[in-house]
Amino acid sequence: VIEIGTPDRAVVTTCAYCGVGCSFKAEMRGDELVRMTPYKHGKANRGHSCVKGRFAYGYAAHKDRILNPMIRDSIDQPWKKVSWDEAIGFAAKKMRGIQDQYGKKSIGVITSSRCTNEETYLVQKMARAVFGNNNTDTCARVCHSPTGYGLGQTYGTSAGTQDFDSVEDTDVVVVIGANPTDGHPVFASRLKKRLREGAKLIVVDPRRIDLVKSPHVAAAHHLALRPGTNVAIVTAMAHVIVTEGLYDEEFIRTRCDWEEFQDYVEFVAEDRHAPEAVEMLTGVPAEELRKAARLYATGGNGAIYYGLGVTEHSQGSTTVIGIANLAMLTGNIGRRGVGVNPLRGQNNVQGSCDMGSFPHELPGYRHVSGSEVREVFESLWNVKLDSEPGLRIPNMLDAAVDGTFKGLYCQGEDILQSDPDTKHVAAGLAAMDCVIVQDLFLNETANYAHVFLPGSTFLEKDGTFTNAERRINRVRKVMAPKNGYADWEVTQLLANAMGGGWTYTHPAQIMAEIAATTPSFANVSYELLEEKGSVQWPCNDASPEGTPLMHIDGFVRGRGRFIRTEYVATDEKTGPRFPLLLTTGRILSQYNVGAQTRRTENSRWHEEDVLEIHPHDAELRGVRDGDYVRLASRSGDTSLRALITDRVSPGVVYTTFHHPTTQANVITTDFSDWATNCPEYKVTAVQVSPSNGP
Ligand code: SF4
Repeated sequence: VIEIGTPDRAVVTTCAYCGVGCSFKAEMRGDELVRMTPYKHGKANRGHSCVKGRFAYGYAAHKDRILNPMIRDSIDQPWKKVSWDEAIGFAAKKMRGIQDQYGKKSIGVITSSRCTNEETYLVQKMARAVFGNNNTDTCARVCHSPTGYGLGQTYGTSAGTQDFDSVEDTDVVVVIGANPTDGHPVFASRLKKRLREGAKLIVVDPRRIDLVKSPHVAAAHHLALRPGTNVAIVTAMAHVIVTEGLYDEEFIRTRCDWEEFQDYVEFVAEDRHAPEAVEMLTGVPAEELRKAARLYATGGNGAIYYGLGVTEHSQGSTTVIGIANLAMLTGNIGRRGVGVNPLRGQNNVQGSCDMGSFPHELPGYRHVSGSEVREVFESLWNVKLDSEPGLRIPNMLDAAVDGTFKGLYCQGEDILQSDPDTKHVAAGLAAMDCVIVQDLFLNETANYAHVFLPGSTFLEKDGTFTNAERRINRVRKVMAPKNGYADWEVTQLLANAMGGGWTYTHPAQIMAEIAATTPSFANVSYELLEEKGSVQWPCNDASPEGTPLMHIDGFVRGRGRFIRTEYVATDEKTGPRFPLLLTTGRILSQYNVGAQTRRTENSRWHEEDVLEIHPHDAELRGVRDGDYVRLASRSGDTSLRALITDRVSPGVVYTTFHHPTTQANVITTDFSDWATNCPEYKVTAVQVSPSNGP
């Protein structure tokens, strides 16, 4: 029995964990948050929640939170607590000093998909309008950047096509590289409801995820592919659809570029793309793959949902394009029950991308080289903007090691723990003259920081998050910031100390600026959000109340583009020393690197990461259930307990990455997506051997 006080007021706000974007009532007694209750009018969750949003808020009051700014001249010195004025002055002087010595492109920012749209907008504005360069990137780089690229190239907009309600009209659900019951639990409940009503399910995943074996939900097909072969699978599905004449010619003729379609047909029809030809490569029986392709093409409304198992590969963007091709090929776009739906990992991945966090795009996905777009911002910000794309996160780190990138303002992301190739990240950070970390806790990246600016939680500020269905939800201030300032205020302090001259007094003004500069947000305002509860972008004169479904009458880019999807094997190869393939994922109760959930009661559900290994592979190595094993790759090694299970196939091992002791990114490689540099977290060649423990 949990004793709680009686609440005396409630504030409706939005969960700050995954991209479902559930609405909650934060129930308060005085200054104390006593309970989070799912809000029944929340359009994304309709009164439902999972164990993270409902219970994992204790981190906000955790003793580990840092509430005082701190500075130090070098990273081998102890931190010194200082006033906000001193910390901001110190940071601004260092950053300006670096620019004076090394040039204006020698510093940059990283925005956070955990922060609000308004905060993200200000951080990228700081790079562009105050630093004078486009060195802004986001933690979406390491998760869904291939979604932005792939859907932008094929459909013309970098976002999911449907709302969550659309699943109610789906006949065939395809889940590729996602584990919704753990990663997006509230949406998974709606998905399972539809499956219990009779919709068919196709799961494409190396691991037998819970959906495959849920009670009353039988996956019609589970394509347990070898990690790294997504492109071969989606191209083979297209091969079956094309060669068996199952494509929707009328849709393609009226909606897509016909010449490009013909070129695509010529490509996918080649015998080398047949399921039989790729069976050895993918490990998926050809007949099973043929049946799945036929079901998707002929089973009625087909909807594809995918996650990081698609994007975090060297061919992440190619797979996204392949998925977009499949939907156009079968006419599964532009109405309820169909579509291409990226399941976003973090609460505001969609928003951080929308807000211009990328080094080549201003807010609204408009390239920095476009003079008309730049003029919109130049006249409002009263600056001249750089027309050359800036540096991505991995390029910033490379340049730091080379000595040309010297200063970083990193808001709400722990790049040392969450980015690939930990040693290289550390070397890049160590080579900089000024690293400014803004976070709730002294994270791993802060070990390399010269300035620590305390962050604020989602409970302590106003703003908006945009969820996986493009829904802009209000985040409402429940309590005063424990550190004195909301994150957007801290960014403004730093910008003004460097000559920004900003005068925002409330995030509503920042949203007004976003609406004034970004066509897809033109009608968005806090007043509209109060009236409607939430709206989905595009929200402008053409769609004054928002857009639940996209591409109804035509694609945003005009005609949909079919693009060839040539499979190229990853450079990460198995061999005698590293014969197994490691892939990774999340568990229901924890979230990403666990900085927040590990500081809550949710830890009781999952106290350590374990390594799932098939009984055959375990026996070969003399590993028993619960034994410690050494997990080694070409990059490094770690130690964790083994869980023997047939959820994984022989040759494949799997772990989560919620605990810093596991150091999963010591193991992963530095290979990345060819188009976006999204790291290839999902394929690492490894060896497993008995160990005495960490
Ligand atoms: Fe929060 Fe996602 Fe759980 Fe909803 S499903 S409560 S948004 S973590």
